[in-house]
Amino acid sequence: MKPEILFAAGEARWRRYEPLLRRALAEAGLAEARIGTDTGPPETVDYIIYTPDSQVRDFTPYTRLKAVLSLWAGVESVVGNPTLKVPLCRMVDSGLREGMVEWVTGQVLRHHLDIDRTLASQNGEWRPRAAPLARGRPVTMLGLGELGRACAQALAALNFPVTGWSRTARQVDAITCLHGATGLEQALARAAILVLLLPHTPQTENLLNAERLRLLPRGAVIVNPGRGSLIDDAALLDALDSGHVGHATLDVFRTEPLPPAHPFWAHPHVTVSPHVAAETRPETAAQVVVENIRRHETGLPFLYLADRARGY
Ligand code: NAP
Repeated sequence: MKPEILFAAGEARWRRYEPLLRRALAEAGLAEARIGTDTGPPETVDYIIYTPDSQVRDFTPYTRLKAVLSLWAGVESVVGNPTLKVPLCRMVDSGLREGMVEWVTGQVLRHHLDIDRTLASQNGEWRPRAAPLARGRPVTMLGLGELGRACAQALAALNFPVTGWSRTARQVDAITCLHGATGLEQALARAAILVLLLPHTPQTENLLNAERLRLLPRGAVIVNPGRGSLIDDAALLDALDSGHVGHATLDVFRTEPLPPAHPFWAHPHVTVSPHVAAETRPETAAQVVVENIRRHETGLPFLYLADRARGY
C-alpha cells in the first residue's frame, strides 16, 4: 500500500510531526506511504492532514482524495467548505483531552478556592476564610463530548455536583445529564461555575446571550475554553458590570489574537487566556491520524467523523 499523504498544516508543525508520522506509518505497516508538505500534483493525493491555517482552501483538484484528517478538535472552519466532498475526521486525542481536563480543573479550583482574592490580599492581614467544600459548589458543563465529558467526570471525582448539557440525551456516570431548551434553562439556573465546551455551529452562536446569562445565579463564574462565538460579548460585559456574573475566564474569542482595544483586556473581572487550554499533542495525534489512514486502507470505517449537517 502506497497512500500519498499531504501534510497541509504548515512547515513548523511538519518539523515536529514528521518523525512521529513516519514512525507511526512504519508501525502501521504503511512505511511505503509518501508523506510531505508538497507531495506532487493534487490528483495523486489520498489524504490531507489539515489545520485551519492550511494552504488548502479548494479541495476540487484533489480528485483522488479519500479523507481530510484535522489536527484540531474544532472543525468549524472546514466543515462547511462546499468543495470538500470526502469524509472529514476531527481530532480526538488523549493528549488534548488530558490538557483540557487539567486546564478546566485548574480554573474551576481557582474560582472555587477564590485563589485570586487570596493572592491579592497578602497585605499583612491575617483573615482566615475557608472555602466551602466542592460538594457545595454546583458546576454546569455545556457540552458532553470528548472533552466536556472528561472534564465533567474529573470535577465530579473532586465532589463537585456536576450537571452536563448536550444536544441529544446522554448518560455519563456521576453527572446529571440534561438536553434541549428546558434542560439548558435548568442547567444554567444551578451553575455556580459554568464551563463551555461546545463547538461553534450556527446553533451555538451566541448561545449565552443576555436572556440566558440572566438565568445564572448571581455571582456565577464563567469559564470558556470552547469557542468565543458561544457568548454574546456585549451581554457578558453588561452582566459583569452589574455583578450578575462574578468573573469570566476566557480562553477563546471571536477574533484571535484578542484585539488590544477589546474591553475584556482591561475588565477587572475577566481573565484573558490566549487559546492555550488544550493543544493537540503531536506524539499522540500522529498515531490517531495514522490509525485512521490504516483503517481506511484496510477497509475499516473512519473514526471521529465530523457530521456536515450537524457542523461538528
Ligand atoms: P465533541 O466531542 O464534538 O462534543 C461536542 C458536544 O457539544 C457534544 O456533547 C454535543 O452534543 C454538544 N453540542 C453541539 N451542538 C450543540 C447544541 N446545539 N446544543 C447543545 N449541545 C450541543 O467536541 P469536543 O471534542 O468535546 O470539543 C468541544 C469543543 O472544544 C471543540 O469544538 C472546540 O471548539 C473546543 N476546543 C477548544 C480548545 C482550546 O484549546 N480552547 C481545544 C480543543 C477543543 P451531543 O453529545 O448531543 O452531540
